[in-house]
Parts: sequence; structure tokens; C-alpha cells
Amino acid sequence: MCGCIFCRIAAHEIPTDILYEDDLCMVFEDINPQAPVHLLVIPKKHITSLNDADDEDRDLLGHLIGVVARVAKEKKIDGSGYRTVINTNAEAGQTVFHLHIHVLGGRRLNWPPG
Ligand code: 5GP
Ligand code: ZN
Repeated sequence: MCGCIFCRIAAHEIPTDILYEDDLCMVFEDINPQAPVHLLVIPKKHITSLNDADDEDRDLLGHLIGVVARVAKEKKIDGSGYRTVINTNAEAGQTVFHLHIHVLGGRRLNWPPG
């Protein structure tokens, strides 16, 4: 069995409230939200980080971005604004090594990030 937590969520092995799902990806709320809206968009395919996405993943990555915009609209943060984040490796703070896009909104977000 794959030990990756997001692979297990994608396989429905861990009960998770799913906001959106299709053949390629899934969207759910972050367990430790950093904003009133904090979603994670993940591919169902295990890709360890953005460093590991290759040419054959291009369409998938584009699809994930489209899903970000779709769920931002569903959560009604499209007008006020939201931030998308992909942390890659240690200095960026990646803690789960299955590619994911954070979608943060519902409050003013500072820039530059910490
Ligand atoms: P990273 O630090 O790798 O960019 O982001 C990983 C995110 O996944 C963190 O914000 C963390 O709170 C979230 N997370 C870790 N484990 C789980 C889990 O089992 N369920 C959910 N919903 N979120 C998780
Ligand atoms: Zn995985």
C-alpha cells in the first residue's frame, strides 16, 4: 500500500470532505487552514513535487489550474482575490511530498510571504 497521505486521500482510503473530484484530481480543505478558505488541489497521480512533473504532465498541470479557478469561484473568493501556492522542497516549506496547489482566500494576504 502506498504510504503517501495524499495518494491515500485520492484513493478514498482516508475519509475527507471532497469539494471537487474528477478523473484527474481532487480538491479538499487543508486540515490546518491558514485563511478562512484554504483548499488543496491535488492530482490523483503521485508526483512528488513540481520538480518531478515532466512533459507528459503538462496537460494535467493546466487542468489543475483550471480547477483552482473553478473552486475559487464556487467558494466566492474569485472577486475578492485568492492566492495559489506550490511549495517545493525544504526551504519553501513542503511537508507533503505529493504535488499540491494551495488555494488561500477570504482575508487580506500579505506580500511578500514569510
Ligand atoms: P505543504 O507544507 O507540503 O506545502 O502543504 C501540506 C499541507 O497539507 C499542509 O498545509 C497541511 O496542513 C496539509 N495536510 C497534511 N496532512 C493532511 C491531511 O491528512 N488532510 C488534509 N486535509 N490536509 C493535510
Ligand atoms: Zn502521493
